Amino acid sequence: MFVALNISATPNRLKILILSTPVGALGSGLGGGVELTIANLARELQSRGHIIEIVAPAGSQLGDLAIIQIPGSLQLTAQTQELSASIVMPSDPVLANMWATARTIQHDYDIIFNTAFDWLPFYLTPFFDRPIAHFVSMGSQIAAIDLAIERVAIDYPGTIGVCTRTQAETFKFGDACCIVGGSGVDPSVYEYCAAPEAALAWLGRISPEKALEDAVAAAQRTGLNLKIMGKIQDVAYWEQINRDYPDAPIEYLGFLPTYELQQALRTCRGLLMTPRWVEAFGNVAIEALACGVPVVAYRRGGPAEIIADGKTGFLVEPDSIEGLVAAIDRLPEIDRADCRHAAETIFSQSAWGNVMESWFYRLVG
Ligand code: UDP
Repeated sequence: MFVALNISATPNRLKILILSTPVGALGSGLGGGVELTIANLARELQSRGHIIEIVAPAGSQLGDLAIIQIPGSLQLTAQTQELSASIVMPSDPVLANMWATARTIQHDYDIIFNTAFDWLPFYLTPFFDRPIAHFVSMGSQIAAIDLAIERVAIDYPGTIGVCTRTQAETFKFGDACCIVGGSGVDPSVYEYCAAPEAALAWLGRISPEKALEDAVAAAQRTGLNLKIMGKIQDVAYWEQINRDYPDAPIEYLGFLPTYELQQALRTCRGLLMTPRWVEAFGNVAIEALACGVPVVAYRRGGPAEIIADGKTGFLVEPDSIEGLVAAIDRLPEIDRADCRHAAETIFSQSAWGNVMESWFYRLVG
């Protein structure tokens, strides 16, 4: 049952303020999957008549979506830090500037949607009048952040949203989290390809926790060309991979916008996902499925909850190159139409919009 809101012209129409990640401008790739997640959610909710405004670091661009641009220094990404790391803020932190803006304009909105995996928004929650839906897009990384999230999970039940069960299980307060999924794709943006080339794809931020080297090693063993797309977040790591695998059949295509990305991806026989960490979700998996591309992934974290083993791809023993190679050999067994179908139904933007809309109504009510 939906609630009628006193400040909205249309009953059930929400005014939603989205707070972006403070680790990079939207469109830079530094924010990883959260960038696509914000874009798809904003578009979906707008199409349902909700009013959306995004607060993000200066320089952000997200097509035709309105963005309140906030200056300031970017935050360090959590995945590069130790469990025992302290909370660190640069001088003139964009994170604090974004939340100061949110505090001043909060009464123009029904709800605030936080996508920052950082201590401050959780710490600030009791100081806001408007409800905050916290979208936690990583598993446990830093104890001090876990503690801040846990306090909110206890004091504001139902406000912590995580992508998957395995991600929730990385937190000791996992049972207090709502599993809301990680994203949804608009199938019309991705073109289905029934007949692939003899090539594989790997997508994502090029950073050690993603273990690109495993995909490169597997591609070398199979002799299939591996198309690599994504932001080089750790240059030294990328250079080391190139030194370690000088003869691997790899091709780096750069960090591509979604249209170009799907053009290069759709013709591949399969997408390799080789994360060393517990990936909270894995947007790239559902983007591949939308093109009809099956996914070979380690049986770990989000991909293990997205991929139907033997139907939309294969799940293999974590960190096993042998396992990857064996699964790549079996890719022709997959019916690519089943992959596309999963993206059109379970992982569609509109299916995810239903989940998120209900969550927001519940918190506003
Ligand atoms: N991506 C992109 N261009 C590229 C490669 C990747 O826009 O050339 C995007 C991709 O669409 C996805 C994100 O990078 O949304 C990676 O997100 P994912 O959830 O897989 O991993 P994360 O970076 O959040 O750990």
